[in-house]
Amino acid sequence: MTGTHRAVRVAILGSGPAGLTAALYAARAELKPLVITGVPAGGQLLITTEVENFPGFPDGIQGPELIDRMRRQAQRFGAEFVDDNIVRVDFRERPFVLETGVSGTVLADAVIIATGANARWLDLPSEDRLKGHGVSACATCDGFFFKGKALAVVGGGDSAMEEALFLTNFATRVTILHRRDKFRASPIMLDRARTHPKIEFLLDTTVEEVLGHETVEGLRVRNQKTGTVSELKVGGLFVAIGHTPATGVFRGALELDAEGYVKLHHETGTSVEGVFAAGDVHDRRYRQAVTAAGAGCRAAIDAERWLAEQERPASSALAASSPRAVTAGPHSPAR
Ligand code: NAP
Repeated sequence: MTGTHRAVRVAILGSGPAGLTAALYAARAELKPLVITGVPAGGQLLITTEVENFPGFPDGIQGPELIDRMRRQAQRFGAEFVDDNIVRVDFRERPFVLETGVSGTVLADAVIIATGANARWLDLPSEDRLKGHGVSACATCDGFFFKGKALAVVGGGDSAMEEALFLTNFATRVTILHRRDKFRASPIMLDRARTHPKIEFLLDTTVEEVLGHETVEGLRVRNQKTGTVSELKVGGLFVAIGHTPATGVFRGALELDAEGYVKLHHETGTSVEGVFAAGDVHDRRYRQAVTAAGAGCRAAIDAERWLAEQERPASSALAASSPRAVTAGPHSPAR
């Protein structure tokens, strides 16, 4: 795609399991979807190692390989991919306007938002200063660089357990720091971490400062129950405290909740008719690859049916007395 306007039936924003499954279904419905992947493409699975809970892979599969397979499967049926970001949207009229970073403007009759969610940080100035110099939110990406070091992981969910377990491949010791003594992590993941000889836990503990000038040399931590402040010598900090939905670009264009997740109306529909959402961008509860994939399937089916409804002849639309059918259809030149 060049820096020009381009019109498509369905644009899919995001290329994790939700976006790729939506692409597969929309492609098989012959809608020739355009997937604007987001950069880097692939979503959270790209920074995951072994995926053991995606049905169909009894021996597990690496996250990046799963994503690659999903993408090729969608391409096989005609989905097209543009590795770019969305920088502005206009959902006020149809066709919807999607401005990309470098590839020009896309006009779409229907849009499926599957932009997912991004890693959260502790928001400490010292954390920010040392990002990429010992502070990371991705063990899969950066673990290799920490061979032979003692490491810390912050968080009490499955991500923290997974990161800690993965880091044991490189680290001499991994300390999981959690701000309370109850965990969100699933029992099986927690048990694996608890029984691992290289992993230890520091509970009721928060990080006050990441220590070190050029690189991480330690953490100043506080016990929340006793108020005691101490130092932990580590050569790296991995932050695994959850995610924030990637919806900044949609603010003001459609309804989001207080935390920025897309609000759904009528199955996968959003507050804007013709704009659908799937996956972590709206789902704060399940957030699994398989639920995201299922949501992508549902959004593509909803988009396909909605487009078909828009294209029915006006007479049959009126007979069906659908209020939507008498408004401008997706192919009406709205601008
Ligand atoms: P999560 O379940 O929301 O857990 C986030 C953790 O970070 C919580 O323990 C939370 O503490 C802590 N936290 C949040 N903000 C913090 C802050 N500012 N300072 C210190 N700690 C903070 O997130 P997640 O672990 O990323 O998991 C998200 C979803 O993905 C879950 O459904 C999970 O099951 C799934 N997942 C699955 C796998 C797997 O099966 N292989 C791997 C990764 C993730 P509190 O508990 O005190 O709130």
